[in-house]
Amino acid sequence: MIVILHPDTPAESSECREVLEYLAGKPGIVPKVHEIVGTQQRLTEIYLIGNTASLDRAEIESIPAVDRVVRISREYRVVGRHSDDTRAGGFTYNGVHFDQDTLHVFAGLCAVDTPRHVELMMQALHEHGQVCTRMGAYKPRTNPYSFQGHGEDCLPWVFELAGQYGIKVIAMEVTHDSHIDEIYDALDKTGHPTGVMLQIGTRNTQNFELLKAAGRQRALPVLLKRGFGITLDESLNAAEYLASEGNRQVVFCLRGMKSQMGDPHRNFVDFAQVPVVKRLTLMPVGIDPSHSVGSRDHGPDGLLDVMHATAQGVIAGANLVLVDFHPEPSKALVDGPQALHLDELGFFLEDVAIAHRAYEERRALAATAVANAGVGRA
Ligand code: PEP
Ligand code: MN
Repeated sequence: MIVILHPDTPAESSECREVLEYLAGKPGIVPKVHEIVGTQQRLTEIYLIGNTASLDRAEIESIPAVDRVVRISREYRVVGRHSDDTRAGGFTYNGVHFDQDTLHVFAGLCAVDTPRHVELMMQALHEHGQVCTRMGAYKPRTNPYSFQGHGEDCLPWVFELAGQYGIKVIAMEVTHDSHIDEIYDALDKTGHPTGVMLQIGTRNTQNFELLKAAGRQRALPVLLKRGFGITLDESLNAAEYLASEGNRQVVFCLRGMKSQMGDPHRNFVDFAQVPVVKRLTLMPVGIDPSHSVGSRDHGPDGLLDVMHATAQGVIAGANLVLVDFHPEPSKALVDGPQALHLDELGFFLEDVAIAHRAYEERRALAATAVANAGVGRA
């Protein structure tokens, strides 16, 4: 059960304390207070763990500070979408809004290599009106002798270049909690010219201590990849780890599943599950077609498999596209063969726009069909 207080009722206020005192009188109920600080208002929600079946919803709603009570119908208490749940699922970070209706493309380098490549990438994004990118500084590699990323050394110049080209959000993978501190430090030292969305990769989806560390901090949102060898339920529980620690600014990202059934693609593309995640949770849902497909192969129609996979995700309502580009893929230190070229950026973005328009039309069609049927869907 979630008890939602009226906006701008801080956790430390006497009004909130009154609610907590009422709950303290109910045996077997453990309240956990969450504060969500938005640009317009501050929301306090109290999550109740234990035997909530015995609680009287109307009685709780009659306490002055309480706006409404949501009964949890699913396992993911915080990130889940529950029946009669009207909580807003999205968030705004560094001026960019993310929710289940928005769409942002994060085109960029799989791994940061040279300042020149990073600058060329940022410049191309700027020319195409893009404000988000991906830049890997900490790379989790299968082979210990492979390039592991430039780490914290590259952060200042990457952030400064991003700022110069109007980039607001960089998706950047972290593989250890010390990386979060390094990113905080570099953002502070450079004067926050840009923002960072912490990426937790598929190899770390169940690194619970990393999830807790990323969840405890609230300044930076998190892009959580689906685990490539675990169930969807297990990956959604990983998102719940982030949220239960206090960070609800989470985008969940599908990236394909490890299976030889996906051959010759690197992973088996799972973008048909975009609407599933939107139905089960309030999180915006991203797709990573580059790590799903893993090549620059194209069909006889001239469209790359990466673009086909992207379109499949976007036409199903994806809210974020994470995609590898590189100015000189043959010189990329990681994943060059799957990177799109800078002169393909316009082509890619236009293709995304076509798929997005088709999604909007499909949504309008569904609304009409439901209205004509004269009944709501069960
Ligand atoms: C990446 O996006 O750079 C990456 C390593 O992705 P994944 O964790 O999905 O393999
Ligand atoms: Mn990669």
